[in-house]
Amino acid sequence: MFTIGCHLSSSKGYEAMARTAASIGANTFQFFTRNPRGGRAKDISPDDVEAFETAAEEAGITRILAHAPYTLNPAAAKPETREFALMTLADDLQRMEATPGQLYNMHPGAHVGQGTEAGIQKITDALNQVLKPEQSTTLLLETMAGKGTEVGGTFEELADIISRIQLSDKVGVCLDTCHVWEGGYDIKENLEGVLEAFDRAVGLSRLRAIHLNDSKNPRSAHKDRHEVIGGGRIGLDALAAVTAHPALRDLPFYLETPHDEVAEYGEEIRALAAAREAML
Ligand code: FE
Ligand code: FE
Ligand code: ZN
Repeated sequence: MFTIGCHLSSSKGYEAMARTAASIGANTFQFFTRNPRGGRAKDISPDDVEAFETAAEEAGITRILAHAPYTLNPAAAKPETREFALMTLADDLQRMEATPGQLYNMHPGAHVGQGTEAGIQKITDALNQVLKPEQSTTLLLETMAGKGTEVGGTFEELADIISRIQLSDKVGVCLDTCHVWEGGYDIKENLEGVLEAFDRAVGLSRLRAIHLNDSKNPRSAHKDRHEVIGGGRIGLDALAAVTAHPALRDLPFYLETPHDEVAEYGEEIRALAAAREAML
């Protein structure tokens, strides 16, 4: 089965997201846990969660992916910025238990001139504080484009972070196709080689979700500019090949492509499903 969806607004709650996903032919979705720039999260309504469970069952939705605010920086040099990241991560992980057993994705952080090693140490210290043995959520570290001082632009950096985490069975990776492409990995001409490199560094069993995006930029641009599927430098065929690959095809896929209308994601899902089917 093809598990695919897109990023949806969480402003109307969980049930509304499940119904919107179903309306565009999606069977999963991604959402921000709170304003993507940070700030307070709305209280989770138990009634909404109950209604979501019914709507999700009707729509065949079993997996969902929450995304942390992208401004969080557990590698920050400023103590108050880092403290805010820790508080938000801990609060989000607690809130995730309202929908047990799901995935929570975060950008590892930016070292802001302190150097990669210092950044990795701060990120792992933060994760060692917020991860709890009793949590049912798997925390995913996203592969980054290597823009600015971002940590996680190489598979080795992600592996380094994971190797220093005590509760590493709670941690996985979300691979973003636009980010790895702009980070220098040739998923268009050499998907097999990229997956081998990932397996050597991190281990393919850690890979739990895929962000499926085309890129506005040539490979190794390190800029992080998403494009609609087929409208960018990676292309529909290479991205459909990602969804059809035996090591990846059972993972959940999430579109984070630039569209104004949610229905446009439905068209993208149908185009990908058709191209994928022809490759299986
Ligand atoms: Fe992201
Ligand atoms: Fe992403
Ligand atoms: Zn991105």
